Amino acid sequence: MHGWYDIRLEMIDCNYNGFFDGKSALVTGGAGFIGSHLTQHLATLGAHVRVLDDFSTGHAENLRGIDAECIEGSILHQSLLKGTCKDVDVVFHLAAFVSVPQSMLEPNACFEVNIQGTQNLINSVETAACARIVFASSAACYGSHPKLPSSEGDDVSLESPYAESKWQGEQLIAQMESTDGVSLRFFNVFGQRQDPNSQYAAVVSVFQDALRNNQTPIIFGDGSQTRDFTPVENIIHAMLLAGASLEPLRGEVLNVGTGVSLSLNELLGVMAHNELVQAIHKEPREGDVQHSQADITAITTALGYSPVVETKQALAQLVNPTQ
Ligand code: NAD
Repeated sequence: MHGWYDIRLEMIDCNYNGFFDGKSALVTGGAGFIGSHLTQHLATLGAHVRVLDDFSTGHAENLRGIDAECIEGSILHQSLLKGTCKDVDVVFHLAAFVSVPQSMLEPNACFEVNIQGTQNLINSVETAACARIVFASSAACYGSHPKLPSSEGDDVSLESPYAESKWQGEQLIAQMESTDGVSLRFFNVFGQRQDPNSQYAAVVSVFQDALRNNQTPIIFGDGSQTRDFTPVENIIHAMLLAGASLEPLRGEVLNVGTGVSLSLNELLGVMAHNELVQAIHKEPREGDVQHSQADITAITTALGYSPVVETKQALAQLVNPTQ
């Protein structure tokens, strides 16, 4: 099942100085798209991995064959978190209410999971004296701020409850007293195991699904909007660099992207191997931003990050895994 991914993992030619070997790691949201890749890679690096997931958007299938302890439950359950964080060295916090458009419809549910849930986790992490927490934040914090590429010092523009909740999470991480922490702002992530069937699925998996089934892809808006489409391998690499950093991390916010962006029309062209594919254009969605591109200078300086996989190559392989 994970054959394709195992090949891609070789592209992360780094063992993080053996840091994770024998360490104990907790991945909240570990049954999700990004979390399952992270769990798999941590296990291959010799870590004892514990996953906490309520399976609201994640799937047990994503963890099949991966050597990890799986606890089914929510970050909203404080008593469960206490035991879950015990004897853990590094926590990767990915569990979240993940959809921007859904957060417009259900803001309170989004705030509860992403703000209260993050606070609950921090309380348990500090009580258990875990050494570090790496928080999955989002480029959504930049909203439609006109300066591009976006740098961490730029003003935020919180245009959805999701963006607001991720920014609040960053503040909570920065305010921790005893545990090291860092917030990584992911730019549009794509790769294997991304769920195309959710109503709010990410565009790459929706295009992939449409092309595979000879259906006409749907684009919200005219397709000129741009995104820094980031292969999931780059996100995993950045999270592992952050987890293994020997330098203290004091609540910094760091972008994780490629530094290059593509329009949705260009994305479709690349995924269709430059064949002309007509899309159905629908009204733009509320809360979606027009342009997004990461400045990755800060994470390069702080953690030595640079992308390990190039976007167009990863897109081509996603559509045609035998390439
Ligand atoms: P995903 O939906 O596949 O993963 C989220 C996981 O969290 C799921 O397994 C879900 O079941 C779990 N979860 C949700 N609520 C929970 C709760 N209350 N308690 C325990 N588990 C819970 O999404 P993903 O794309 O893998 O996203 C992972 C993280 O990265 C999220 O924090 C998301 O906000 C962030 N992020 C993702 C992207 C992207 O492009 N995919 C971009 C920016 C940030």
